[in-house]
Amino acid sequence: MVRKSPWILHYDGSSCNGCDIEVLACLTPVFDVERFGIINTGNPKHADILLITGSINEQNLPVVKQLYDQMPTPRAVVAIGACAATGGVFKDCYNVYGGVATAIPVDVYVPGCAARPENIIAGVVKALDVLENRRVKKSKPKKELSTRKNAKAKTTGGEE
Ligand code: SF4
Repeated sequence: MVRKSPWILHYDGSSCNGCDIEVLACLTPVFDVERFGIINTGNPKHADILLITGSINEQNLPVVKQLYDQMPTPRAVVAIGACAATGGVFKDCYNVYGGVATAIPVDVYVPGCAARPENIIAGVVKALDVLENRRVKKSKPKKELSTRKNAKAKTTGGEE
């Protein structure tokens, strides 16, 4: 299900808006990612993938962490552009900590200043693999646990 219809949360950390315009371009009729079932949601509780542009600074650090914490698991983070990767042109500013990885774990980096829409879409496709791997990992221990429980129930002659 998630593999086919990922919902996206787009957050502008402290970008110049260059990368954000390219993210929005993905939604326009030229690229039209909605035809693949990719929906831009404003609610982190509905999002599978966080697309984040810009650097992490004193002001947005708690916001980024909170958005990430509110997303259900499995989740993936795509850092878009040079600023999201390292702080980019803003990295020497007095209040900038650096790229997105200074706040939350990043799964996919999309290069560019600004990042191209084609590369952003490719980044989302990579994030789908990350999500799928996490989904499989998340479901495995439960299966093993229930198998162990069933085996115990059989040997003790009852259900736990
Ligand atoms: S990577 Fe370039 S275009 Fe993107 S937010 Fe930074 S300065 Fe702007």
